[in-house]
Amino acid sequence: MSVTQNITNQSFFSADDKPQEECGVFGIYVNDEDINAVAEVYSGLYSLQHRGQNSAGICVNDNGTFKCCKNKGLISEAFRENALEELPNGKIAIGHVRHSLQKFEDDDFASVQPLLMRYVYGSLAIAHNGDITNKAELHKQLAEGGAIFQSNSNAELISYVIASMRLQTDTIDDAVIKAVDMLEGAYSLVITSPSKLIAVRDMHGFRPLCIGKMKNSYMISSESCSFDSLGAEFIRDVAPGEIIVIDKDGLHSYTNYCGKPTAMCIFEQIYVSRPDSVLDGQNVHNFRMNVGKVLAEKYPVDADVVCGVPDSGSSCAVGYSRYSGIPYGIAIIKNKYIGRTLSMDNDGMRKRILDIKINVLKSTVEGKRVIIIDDSIVRGGTMAHIVELLRKAGAKEIHVRVASPPFRNICYYGISLPQKEHFIANQLTPDELCRNIGADSLEFITVDELLSCAVDSQINFCTACFSGDYPTEKPTEFYDKFSVKIEV
Ligand code: SF4
Repeated sequence: MSVTQNITNQSFFSADDKPQEECGVFGIYVNDEDINAVAEVYSGLYSLQHRGQNSAGICVNDNGTFKCCKNKGLISEAFRENALEELPNGKIAIGHVRHSLQKFEDDDFASVQPLLMRYVYGSLAIAHNGDITNKAELHKQLAEGGAIFQSNSNAELISYVIASMRLQTDTIDDAVIKAVDMLEGAYSLVITSPSKLIAVRDMHGFRPLCIGKMKNSYMISSESCSFDSLGAEFIRDVAPGEIIVIDKDGLHSYTNYCGKPTAMCIFEQIYVSRPDSVLDGQNVHNFRMNVGKVLAEKYPVDADVVCGVPDSGSSCAVGYSRYSGIPYGIAIIKNKYIGRTLSMDNDGMRKRILDIKINVLKSTVEGKRVIIIDDSIVRGGTMAHIVELLRKAGAKEIHVRVASPPFRNICYYGISLPQKEHFIANQLTPDELCRNIGADSLEFITVDELLSCAVDSQINFCTACFSGDYPTEKPTEFYDKFSVKIEV
């Protein structure tokens, strides 16, 4: 019997054995004749594809006339040949890539972003990353006032809130400022009104958002790696609580909600963001290298080679190797191009997909004592599978090191995780888990050790899924009852 079959948990092999990133947003305000807004957003979204693969969309604003192109699938699938050529060459454009753990149903198309709405002050398009924690209360309030919702998306709710505030204010800037006062939870937004590009980051700064510039044109992106890809200059992060408005007069900053305690999702550093991004001062690759160093320092073991589970585990393994002097090796080869087109209706199929997805380089591990570092363990199935493959490839000893503490709590701020009873750390002790995945040793970094790795960060972190220390009120019970489908 294989080691993986020893675990009785029926959901051991699962599509969500990794936390799922939620969304990426991008926007541009063009001030240069030779810059094409749609082309830049399209390229910007490619650099954010890792943040969401279920749908993609672009909305362009040509002097107040808005047109969207969006569809399900990867960017290459969502924008079919010539599709973007049908979009006008407007001055402002926004884009979105989305992840959803839900199977994509036809009626989910209403949730594909950017969302475009029309109201008495013209059009408004919005793209959102995060999760609103007072969604149920706002939804109820607006629905009882006559709002009719097409979807259960946060973006639709936020646009209703802004539109209703616009009826009470003189400018869209004031409407957004008032709306932010009503929204709780995680939101990094790009919005276009008829004449402005607006960026908003919630006061905790849960999700990243930054400003770039190409010639005289401004860009907003979830991650700074976009600006490198486009040849644009990184200007700065949008501060937690800050509202940025870009119009014909330039860039304006509203800081009414800045200066509150911050809580960026630490999982952005561990797993979600690209290693070449810098989030609030902290380079992601350097953070992961520091994690590897701490794992080597606190949880040493004699070994012949240290390897990472790509992608995020690789930076950690380099850091471990440099600190310990144990040679770094590439052992795990991942096939990224599978998953969405295959049905995963049973454990046999899920395991089959893992076989297709992960392979081991025998020459790296045969006859050796191997340290393997992964970013996280959620249900345990993937790591058990990797250990089994390493054994089959001839590894003499296998020591697992994990770059995040054990998951114990769900996330309310935009990362899809399974229900907490499915976390393997809530079912087994570390020793039991080590035995069940078939490893010779298993160690997790602690929350304090993890926080010590963000040496360059200008922001504090949320660690709630590990520590249970939530930076906001949890959504009320009413939230669960009211929502037909809950986006977690
Ligand atoms: S609960 Fe975990 S995944 Fe969610 S924002 Fe906090 S650190 Fe990130």
